[in-house]
Amino acid sequence: MTSVETNAPCPACGSTELSPFHQMKGIPALSCTIWDSVEEAKSCPQGDIELSLCQTCGLLVNTAFDPNLLHYDESYKASLHHSPLFTRYATGLATDLVDRYDLHEKLVAEIGCGKGDFLKMLVDQGNNRGIGFDPSYEIDPDEAPDDRLTFVKEFYTEAHLDFAPDLVIARQLLEHVEEPLEFMKGLRRTLGDRHDTIVVFEVPNALDMLQRADLWDVIYEHPIYFTPLALKRLLRSAGFDVHRVRPAFEGLFLIIEASPGAEAPANLEPVGHLLENDVAKFAAAYTDRVQKWRHRLDEIKAQGKRAVLWGSGARGDTFLNALRIHEEIPMVVDLNPNKWGKHMAGTGQPIHSPQDLKDHPPDLVVIANEIYLQEISASLSDMGIDAEILVA
Ligand SMILES: [Zn+2]
Repeated sequence: MTSVETNAPCPACGSTELSPFHQMKGIPALSCTIWDSVEEAKSCPQGDIELSLCQTCGLLVNTAFDPNLLHYDESYKASLHHSPLFTRYATGLATDLVDRYDLHEKLVAEIGCGKGDFLKMLVDQGNNRGIGFDPSYEIDPDEAPDDRLTFVKEFYTEAHLDFAPDLVIARQLLEHVEEPLEFMKGLRRTLGDRHDTIVVFEVPNALDMLQRADLWDVIYEHPIYFTPLALKRLLRSAGFDVHRVRPAFEGLFLIIEASPGAEAPANLEPVGHLLENDVAKFAAAYTDRVQKWRHRLDEIKAQGKRAVLWGSGARGDTFLNALRIHEEIPMVVDLNPNKWGKHMAGTGQPIHSPQDLKDHPPDLVVIANEIYLQEISASLSDMGIDAEILVA
């Protein structure tokens, strides 16, 4: 693998030895955002993805990331967090933490708590007190007030942790942090000599993404992607003692548990070379898949087939934009009624109800996420549609 000396160092370890392995140009910066008109959709903020492997710490870094393209506010809604499967997983995680760390009548803090659903679970399960930080937090008027809970509608900064939490947790946050080492060192400083504080981070599992060649899981919102090696090294470098790192939620996530340590180790061995095979396989799989799809899209066009994409989430959006798909797949369907009448970021396809397929049955249904294959295939049979189904 060629290694390029870049000006921008790895944000987790400071190394300048970053090996690029995956490029996508003009990808919508907010993959979960849909737009009211085709014009708005096509002119939405877009940026490039240049994924590189840090040869020193094993982090994957989008070296083309431009934070100015992202504007997180109350309108930003991540899509994953509503499925029953995900809720079951989160409940199990809360139970496990409360039991193993005996969190009863303690103080728990969540950084990036969203609406506070997970924090509430931690508080309920152990009769704890909870404090949540999130600029996008909104009070739910239907929710009964709970004086065990405090929400701070701001980004978490060092100024905020001047109390003594027994547990600090952040889920799906660290992959959005541009300067993760500074962030972790800041947290370490605030925790001081409270060595029995438990610190838990949950992030997407980049090793799983590489090994399964989960190509459409790369999104612009993430400036960095954590392999287990990179995650562990980051926390150690910031002065935490790591208790364990484990995959969770079908291997899609990584969870690290740590506590403030005595001091950061001075020298850690480089680990990037341990990931070179995984990175090379991912790159090869991408090239191969793109070639196959270009061929297939030409066929669809030549044969005048009607194709639709089922699912308007981030993966579908990455697929459409990475391949610059327009008239070959002119329409997207989605079960979420809030999305109907809107348009896909970047490529602009209109989003319809799946029921609309009955009037003009498609020849081909493309799905961006294989885990919905059975569900979608059943829905199509129910509507009497006999279409070929392809996984993007
Ligand atoms: Zn690094």
